[in-house]
Amino acid sequence: MDEIYDVVIVGGGPAGVATAYLCHKSGLKYLLIEEGKSVFQGIANTYPEGKNVYPSRPKDSPEPFLVEELRPPDKPVAVEKYVQYVQHFVQHENLAVQTDTQFEDIKGERDILTVQTSKGAIKARKVVLAFGSSIPKELTVYGDAKMVAKTVDDPKKYVGNRTLVIGGGNSAADVIISILKEKRNANDKEPVYWAHISETFDVNKETAQRLGEEILLGGNIRLLPGATPRIGEVDEEGVDRLVIRTSEVRQPDGIEIYNAMSFPMKNVIACIGSQGPLPIFDRIGVQTIACAEGVCQVAKEGDRLILLTADFESTRKGVYVAGGAISPSYMRISGGTIQEQKHPNLIYTAINDAYHVVEAIRKKLKSVKGER
Ligand SMILES: Cc1cc2nc3c(=O)[nH]c(=O)nc-3n(C[C@H](O)[C@H](O)[C@H](O)COP(=O)(O)OP(=O)(O)OC[C@H]3O[C@@H](n4cnc5c(N)ncnc54)[C@H](O)[C@@H]3O)c2cc1C
Repeated sequence: MDEIYDVVIVGGGPAGVATAYLCHKSGLKYLLIEEGKSVFQGIANTYPEGKNVYPSRPKDSPEPFLVEELRPPDKPVAVEKYVQYVQHFVQHENLAVQTDTQFEDIKGERDILTVQTSKGAIKARKVVLAFGSSIPKELTVYGDAKMVAKTVDDPKKYVGNRTLVIGGGNSAADVIISILKEKRNANDKEPVYWAHISETFDVNKETAQRLGEEILLGGNIRLLPGATPRIGEVDEEGVDRLVIRTSEVRQPDGIEIYNAMSFPMKNVIACIGSQGPLPIFDRIGVQTIACAEGVCQVAKEGDRLILLTADFESTRKGVYVAGGAISPSYMRISGGTIQEQKHPNLIYTAINDAYHVVEAIRKKLKSVKGER
């Protein structure tokens, strides 16, 4: 029979790790899934190297940090040190974490929810969504392109392969630099193709200098400006491939002539930016509400905000949301009214949300078990 968790937590940032730790301490059966190589992948990917981490607290917040163990130290430390501390903490506490697992959808109703992931389905009584505020955009192509990576965890994987990087900005350039470096170290001359939908690339000076250095040191890079990813398909050998059009000419007779390249998806990385979590909320059917004129102070008119109870439960029963995923504000349903609630995107808010969510879940599960 399928294992049923009390709680499945999506995302291993401050909100997710705090939730997992509190579930662990409460004796709940839980599992945290994280799409990266380890917990705090989101922070490791987004903070600049050596950036200090501050234990910032909004001025008007009455509560202290409710999970002292995860609070960044008063004397700010570099992000690498804080991330390392948390990773050791997770190991030491033996928290149940499954990495390299991407959340896809939630099915099922009320009592038992089925969380669909890139590694299969997991059943849970409650789900806590803690995937942060910045969700990498998916490639939109005809067919399925889910296998395409959005970041590079291990550039060594691409040594010996012709690799395609899609995207025209700094993050695509950074990915290319890291792969070119590995290829250079391994004396691999296979090229990295750099495709962008526009005719020009747009990176800052510092990134351009680092990229230029790699090229001059022997990096083999082929530019594909004006290229559009078109189809995700499986070839006759069962390999998932991405077809990208590199040029196209429309003839007056209506015929299109185009050149295209096809890459195994495992050799493709798409760095095409990130977006807020609204598309995920829509997909899983949790309700949001648009700010009408004069109603919201933090959000702008027309912005859609997620509806949550005071315990951070969404309109989909049993599905809670915590941390950066609900920043900078959400609509709180309380005592029959709905009001915008400020929610600064800080480690403090992420950790304290986790505390309140686990308290609420504990009470609910206890009352359900009591009823049985
Ligand atoms: C440059 C920078 C500096 C900052 N400095 C500070 C500071 O000094 N002090 C402070 O308090 N705050 C700071 N912040 C804000 C702070 O980092 C965030 O508030 C905090 O990380 C939010 O935590 P979270 O757990 O909600 O989300 P995140 O930290 O974003 O974690 C979400 C996790 O979910 C994973 N994930 C995403 N999608 C999926 C999916 N589909 N399936 C599985 N896993 C998924 C991600 O890989 C990630 O590990 C800073 C933010 C930035 C960008």
